[in-house]
Amino acid sequence: MDLGIHGKTALVCAGSKGLGYGCAEALAAAGVNLILNARTEGPLEEAAERLRRHGVEVRTVAADIATEEGQRTVLAVAGEVDILVNNAGGPPPGVWSDWGRADFQKALDANMLAPIAMMTAIMPKMIEKGWGRVVNITSQSVRAPIAQLGLSNAARTGLTGYVAGTSRQVAPHGVIVNNLLPGTHATARSESLDKGRAAREGVDEAEARRRSEAEIPAGHYGDAGDFGAICAFLCSQQARFIVGQNILVDGGNVNLTM
Ligand code: NAP
Repeated sequence: MDLGIHGKTALVCAGSKGLGYGCAEALAAAGVNLILNARTEGPLEEAAERLRRHGVEVRTVAADIATEEGQRTVLAVAGEVDILVNNAGGPPPGVWSDWGRADFQKALDANMLAPIAMMTAIMPKMIEKGWGRVVNITSQSVRAPIAQLGLSNAARTGLTGYVAGTSRQVAPHGVIVNNLLPGTHATARSESLDKGRAAREGVDEAEARRRSEAEIPAGHYGDAGDFGAICAFLCSQQARFIVGQNILVDGGNVNLTM
């Protein structure tokens, strides 16, 4: 399917690995030029080199997107973009009684305030041009809480509430904002969650992964490439009537009727 976005420009935050990289690669395959962000220069440059094989322009910007300084740096390099993919690392697991104000502030900075700041900075130009696409990578935890990820549950539902209203305010101007909610995907993040389960249940990591996969109706973890393809579709011309949605990509893991 031709997504109709060849020649457009996308900023992909936290995109050198995992789900962000999957989104960047699917956009590159659709002919979209990229500004790719992550904190660590080496893997960022390697990712950019791989993406250039799709024949698109890729600029990189190493910065921590969870900080105001990092956001300014990224925005200065990115300039005007047609597509924004918001992403950042997820907060650590724990128990409700572990978390104080500083922990919440960190989670809010990364998983709520950073994407809001990027949308606030970038959407005015999209509105002016009458076309834009924003995809926020959130989590299945906004539909059904994951107890040990309380910091993530809290920060991401805050972003979800913001997007619910804002997406409807910008849609009349051709700016389409949606959230993608990953279930467990095979990335560095899932490896660290497997490690946690292995320690809690006294098994090795392979067994922890097998147990987690067995709990998913699809029977396996998700694939970052598949996830990216769905992101690219939400950035397509054809997605213009999908507004303010929270789309689960979880192999059926969250048990909901709708
Ligand atoms: P990942 O494989 O660990 O990749 C994270 C990517 O983001 C890396 O490129 C990393 O590069 C970059 N990054 C992290 N923090 C950053 C920051 N503050 N500023 C800029 N770049 C940053 O993670 P993932 O599995 O793709 O997960 C992406 C998001 O989806 C996370 O928020 C995660 O919690 C959420 N999620 C993941 C799953 C899953 O199963 N994978 C499920 C639900 C939700 P640097 O470290 O070099 O910065």
